[in-house]
Amino acid sequence: MSARHFDVIVVGGGHAGTEAAAAAARMGAKTALITHKAATIGVMSCNPAIGGLGKGHLVREIDALDGIMGRAADEGGIQFRMLNRKKGPAVWGPRTQADRKLYRLAVQRLLSDIPDLEVVEGGVVGLIRDSSVIKGVSLESGEELFAPAVVLTTGTFLNGLIHIGDRKIAAGRVGEEPALGLSADLASFGLKLGRLKTGTPARLDRKTIDWTALEVQEADADPIPFSFMTDAIVTPQIACGITRTTSETHRIIRDNIHRSAMYSGQIEGVGPRYCPSIEDKISRFGDRDGHQIFLEPEGLDDDTVYPNGISTSLPEEVQEQFIRSIPGLEKVRILQPGYAIEYDFVDPQQLDLSLAVKGVTGLFLAGQINGTTGYEEAGAQGLLAGINAARLAAGQEGISFSRTDSYIGVMVDDLTSRGVAEPYRMFTSRAEYRLSLRSDNADMRLTPFGISLGCVGQERARKFTNYREQRESVYALLGELTASPNEMASAEVPINQDGRRRSAREILSYPDRNWSDIARVWPELRAVDAKIAEAVAIDCLYHVYLERQSADVESVRSEESRAIPLDFDYDSLSGLSNELKLKLGAQRPQNVAQASRIEGMTPAAVALLVAHLRKNT
Ligand code: FAD
Repeated sequence: MSARHFDVIVVGGGHAGTEAAAAAARMGAKTALITHKAATIGVMSCNPAIGGLGKGHLVREIDALDGIMGRAADEGGIQFRMLNRKKGPAVWGPRTQADRKLYRLAVQRLLSDIPDLEVVEGGVVGLIRDSSVIKGVSLESGEELFAPAVVLTTGTFLNGLIHIGDRKIAAGRVGEEPALGLSADLASFGLKLGRLKTGTPARLDRKTIDWTALEVQEADADPIPFSFMTDAIVTPQIACGITRTTSETHRIIRDNIHRSAMYSGQIEGVGPRYCPSIEDKISRFGDRDGHQIFLEPEGLDDDTVYPNGISTSLPEEVQEQFIRSIPGLEKVRILQPGYAIEYDFVDPQQLDLSLAVKGVTGLFLAGQINGTTGYEEAGAQGLLAGINAARLAAGQEGISFSRTDSYIGVMVDDLTSRGVAEPYRMFTSRAEYRLSLRSDNADMRLTPFGISLGCVGQERARKFTNYREQRESVYALLGELTASPNEMASAEVPINQDGRRRSAREILSYPDRNWSDIARVWPELRAVDAKIAEAVAIDCLYHVYLERQSADVESVRSEESRAIPLDFDYDSLSGLSNELKLKLGAQRPQNVAQASRIEGMTPAAVALLVAHLRKNT
């Protein structure tokens, strides 16, 4: 068999791998996506939902760079809800529950539409290298594929081990073989690996649930798509049921907690604090008045229900007992037991901001392998790694995002500068510039950069350019339209009678004012497209805050632009403590902004570093 050559090889067809392969191919790289089974490309391993608080921002950013997650979620979404709607738009969280099958098929179709992308079925067992330069990968079948850039996105599969009570099954997720061999190859590069765990609840038979006993949660009446390219959501929308654990549920779990894999000392990996198992909730938060459970149908023509909130690694018979103590679930049939899974991850401090492994040419890592949890976190990293793999193959420098321009930038900076002690997930609170990093303006923030990189297709580029022109001209117009307090009052927009003329833009900066108010004062504004009007109104609302934030953003950007050479000699920095010299030497931050976020770095230490860099580089 003759050896096959590609520009980029992506290993893994999960959320990171699909975005990585799609991005690399959009950039013009001849790309191979190698995964165990083509039919499982785009599978959601756990909860059937995309987006949420912080995570929804990531989906919008992936979409702004022409990624596929947002479009697939729009096709597969069966319960769109805008979370946090009562709070300001900066922290709104677009979310949809997804029909698993529709989502997976949408991902597969979107990938098949991309030229230069070939799916190869098989398990990768080794990396082909020449010293510290990656050359390709070897497959279980014995075949070897070659490329100057390889992106590993193995998810929960690296030495994956499932636990159900005291049963242990070697697997990447239920019913699928783990990936063995690659961890040893990664360790042979001197990389530090660790062990993490995550868990999933049992799956229930919809027909055996007493829905009449449950509270119902409906979808939003006006579903807002994730993707800039989607005009409207056409997939039917469904409701979820809501129930709660009872004191009897808690008693059963407490009585059996020693049989839970997580509590019997069988699992060494650390689990996600923000996605706790039901055992964790009962041990840490006690009984309360019960823990809420959302009963989420997994599809329009699927009888499987995902009980969100009760992931567990208790033995099967205990799972059945405690689940049947929950209102509405007294007679439920369990289709698949819940389980916990442990897997290897690579300490992400060994990566640079482009998600390339430091000191190894051509190796990129993205997704759960970097210690994150969640589809959105994985997809966003995949996109960045795919772009950079394609750039490396084309002989170009790596690119990165900044904390000041995106949640992707926040996440990658957090991972590479601080590492992870537990599975990392995104929250809006992680982004210090969240007033400017909103889900509604992801396109304005990132699509122009995506166009300049070449990862945004022509169709989106055209549509975006047109949208931006309209948005900017409406924003400019709002600054020019002014009216006196009297004129406003006669249009039923009462404001302070101080005689001062105000612009339409200023009126919209008041939180209690909206587009219909200004359209009464200036009737020509009624003709503005609703999508543009909403976006511009939000820009006006945040305008004042953003001006205040811009000085901070500028100072971070200037620190980010001050690069630190990879071989910088920290020992030569007299005045710096030995502890800091060791930390800086081990982490090798890429720029001053990253160095300043290392634990223990004081303003004085940063000043010393900057002074030295100014003099010597
Ligand atoms: P995955 O989606 O795991 O995809 C990995 C892909 O790589 C698979 O297609 C696999 O076949 C392929 N692959 C792996 N190794 C090889 C190889 N050597 N050769 C070829 N192909 C390979 N996230 C949450 O946000 N909340 C949760 O509560 C949650 N619970 C979870 C519970 C369980 C049991 C599991 C398994 C996952 C859970 N997740 C949860 C995590 C979520 O599924 C992942 O974060 C997300 O899927 C990671 O995406 P990924 O692309 O990194 O990897």
